[in-house]
Amino acid sequence: MFFLCLLLALMMTTTTNATTTAIEVKALPYAYDALAPAISEETMRFHHDKHYAGYVAKLNELIADTPYAGQSLEEIVLTSDGSIFNQAAQAWNHEFYFEQFAPGATSAPTGPLLDAINEAFGSVEGLKSELTKAATALFGSGWVWLVEDATGKLSLLSTRNAGTPIRHGLSPLLCMDVWEHAYYIDYRNRRADAVAAAWNLIDWKKVERRYKRIRK
Ligand code: MN
Repeated sequence: MFFLCLLLALMMTTTTNATTTAIEVKALPYAYDALAPAISEETMRFHHDKHYAGYVAKLNELIADTPYAGQSLEEIVLTSDGSIFNQAAQAWNHEFYFEQFAPGATSAPTGPLLDAINEAFGSVEGLKSELTKAATALFGSGWVWLVEDATGKLSLLSTRNAGTPIRHGLSPLLCMDVWEHAYYIDYRNRRADAVAAAWNLIDWKKVERRYKRIRK
């Protein structure tokens, strides 16, 4: 009986350790149907629960018993390569992507962020047009990002597959996911329509906070 108790105690300790070191799936900051009809509930359930959560689960499998176990997601993205990088960067990119939206977002960029957008793209419409063009031009799967460099200058960056700006020394402000899984349920092959609809969901207050945080 004593040994059975000891064994159970050991198993519980092991389980607790595994839980504390795992990368956790972040819940959406809004309801699954909150962005409909621009992004449907079905797309959000597949995108968050299957694709994003799948990257996190696979990452946890890959990093178990490696030096990456216990590191933050960002640390892993910045230092890994191969399969671990692919899963970690996709997890990081998706968290960043989901966080930028808000239901019925009607805000517009203001202040220093608006100035920086005007300087780089002429206007907010110029930014939207150029980024949408880059999103449709990207061949295959990837991401298109609005990024800020170390001098505070804004530009666009297209990354393939799991590519991410933080590995290029750039700070992302917003992004469009142009993997087919992000839009195929709602828009089939019409990627440009999906991007156009996503613009209306961008929470510019969140983007401004990202910009201010980076500028500190
Ligand atoms: Mn995706």
